[in-house]
Amino acid sequence: MDFPHLFAPLDLGHVTLSNRILMGSMHTGLEDRAADYDKLAAYFAERARGGVGLMVTGGIAPSIEGWLKPFSGRLTLPWHKPRHRKLTGAVHAEGGRICMQILHAGRYGYQPLSVAPSRIKSPISPFTPRALSAGGVERTIRDFVHCAQLAREAGYDGVEVMGSEGYLINQFIAARTNHRDDAWGGDAARRMRFPVEIVRRTRAAVGRDFIIIYRLSMLDLVEGGQDWDEIVTLAKAIEAAGASIINTGIGWHEARVPTIVTSVPRAGFAWVTRKLKGEVSIPLVATNRINMPEVAERVLAEGDADMVSMARPLLADPAWANKAKAGCSEHINTCIACNQACLDHVFVNKRASCLVNPRACHETELKIEPAPHRKRIAVVGAGPAGMACAATLGERGHTVTLIDRASGIGGQFNYAKRIPGKEEFHETLRYYRHRLANAGVEVKLGVEAEAASLKAAGYDEVVVATGVLPRRVSFPGSDDPRVLGYLDVLARDRPVGGRVAVIGAGGIGFDVAEFLVEHQPSPTTDVARWASEWGVDTQLVQRSGLQSPQPEVPLRQVWLLQRSEGRPGARLNKTTGWVHRATLKAKRVTMLGKVTYERFDDRGLHLTVDGKSQILPVDTVVVCAGQEPDRRLAGELAAAGITAHLIGGADVAAELDAKRAIDQGTRLACQL
Ligand code: FAD
Ligand code: NAP
Ligand code: SF4
Repeated sequence: MDFPHLFAPLDLGHVTLSNRILMGSMHTGLEDRAADYDKLAAYFAERARGGVGLMVTGGIAPSIEGWLKPFSGRLTLPWHKPRHRKLTGAVHAEGGRICMQILHAGRYGYQPLSVAPSRIKSPISPFTPRALSAGGVERTIRDFVHCAQLAREAGYDGVEVMGSEGYLINQFIAARTNHRDDAWGGDAARRMRFPVEIVRRTRAAVGRDFIIIYRLSMLDLVEGGQDWDEIVTLAKAIEAAGASIINTGIGWHEARVPTIVTSVPRAGFAWVTRKLKGEVSIPLVATNRINMPEVAERVLAEGDADMVSMARPLLADPAWANKAKAGCSEHINTCIACNQACLDHVFVNKRASCLVNPRACHETELKIEPAPHRKRIAVVGAGPAGMACAATLGERGHTVTLIDRASGIGGQFNYAKRIPGKEEFHETLRYYRHRLANAGVEVKLGVEAEAASLKAAGYDEVVVATGVLPRRVSFPGSDDPRVLGYLDVLARDRPVGGRVAVIGAGGIGFDVAEFLVEHQPSPTTDVARWASEWGVDTQLVQRSGLQSPQPEVPLRQVWLLQRSEGRPGARLNKTTGWVHRATLKAKRVTMLGKVTYERFDDRGLHLTVDGKSQILPVDTVVVCAGQEPDRRLAGELAAAGITAHLIGGADVAAELDAKRAIDQGTRLACQL
């Protein structure tokens, strides 16, 4: 057994979990409509089959006031139970266990009926909450208890009481949001009465043989949160009130410290849970950026926690636990913590999925089934689109040849993996190497595919996944050798001076700017360095775990430029863009919009910024001005009379990302 701690059973008294893996709560967007519960049941069943010890649903509201948004999922009435029974039935049929998360959004509710301990608007919702009366507080506690009773009747193995991330319970606990002077506010003891009463009365109502997980905010990361002594006191009171497990919550949603994005070090907050070890005797769960069995095993073996929680890693690979147990972690499709298809979707009311696994939350619709007719198929281009397509085709039984001119698979992922904080892209390449081999795909590297040779080989189908070509820019001096493209920097390691202008502030412009200012290896690989940069107090002396950030001195002086008006980076992804902007700000990168590029010469880059002339005294310019489809091979094939399928950047380069490339490659492969 490679991971003995991870696969040690956990005895909770009335029930024994088969391993230490908790699938953490993750909103998928399927919780909100009864009509979607069959899809949700298939999603959970697949993960139960994959061997996870215990799962937690996305947040379910205990009342309409507690809705995250209008008409979001709730369990408040007996006739809501049948839809939940679909989930519990499907999970139990696979031998799994599932708890339902009770989530009252409080002032985070994106809806007009929201309530809170005090009438204080949150920075992340446009609605000002109504302050609960003392009677309203009692009624809310009853709502939690009633919801837990209904969950038990619907067949759940337990509930998770969501007490962290800045939702209602957290709002009661923190002086920041609780300005009451009655029995539910004032000093720390009165502020924590609300969660303790919820757990105590829930335990009394559901009996001993029902799991109660309490998600406890151990590091608020916002001003006016708890100090460590208050957290320990609360944890002890929650245990005494009858919780079975304490799960870790890190950071409120309004915190300005990243907690789950890819640049957060792996297991970067396990030290917080460890600090609570010994203070309570019920199992503790460590969370955040635990994505591979080696990391999870280390957390448990070093005694940081009794269980590990992973949410997104089980979106990425439902069979994560079984693969780890079989000692095949190299086959795990690793969550790269990009948020692009999960959290970013949820924020725009779109169903969640996963960049590296487009089947996630689409299990009933996107099926990889044996092909009715086996064909010989060539896929040209081993970037994300081509890899996903070739692997899926092979798994369906086709005879597949994947061709790339490069010496390795991965296409642009080979450049992405060099960006500080994007090291996880290495894992995707490792995963595809194994998946392609397993699927029996013949991989031909270092081979330039040409129409003539493809025609001569007589394939039944040809898929063109040749990707993109960087867009060139033209202004006087743009042909100077000191004006580089992003591939010169990331692929060819051309020398770059100490003062650099980056033309183009899209995803690649931001990435290249980070590459240029950050020291290698990046802080992502070192928890202490990373925490110091972001102002996280790992000694937990400071209230909320916040201290003054100490950014490292940037390696270079960088200007990041765009022609369009507005804030550079405004179009970056919702849940990660702010991290990139904050990183570059801390590294003193100057960001300019409304720029016209006039010329480059020995004095630097001449610009007009909002109509005014300016010279940036730079010695290097790096162009990151977007991309065009590479359709050269597609054109040759068309001329040779071969109809090819175009996917990824070769199809449409505008707004292309790996999510679209992998999704399109997978979907095409399911149809051929
Ligand atoms: P590509 O990845 O461009 O692959 C095309 C492949 O085709 C190449 O390997 C090429 O060698 C091969 N090829 C072309 N013509 C031939 C031929 N005639 N014969 C043989 N082989 C050929 N996307 C995200 O979603 N999230 C990110 O965080 C992210 N970060 C990025 C960071 C950087 C620095 C870069 C450069 C890109 C990033 N991207 C990111 C974009 C993402 O990598 C691309 O959207 C994706 O790689 C496109 O996939 P593709 O398969 O269409 O093409
Ligand atoms: P992009 O997002 O389209 O950005 C291109 C930038 O170049 C824009 O800032 C654009 O802004 C500028 N530009 C366009 N044409 C120009 C021209 N002729 N002259 C000068 N500037 C020009 O493209 P990208 O940065 O190359 O990224 C490619 C894709 O990879 C993106 O679609 C992105 O989704 C994906 N990606 C994603 C991530 C991620 O973290 N999710 C990271 C990297 C890449 P102006 O026109 O205003 O100057
Ligand atoms: Fe992980 Fe990205 Fe998939 Fe979300 S979309 S589960 S962050 S790999």
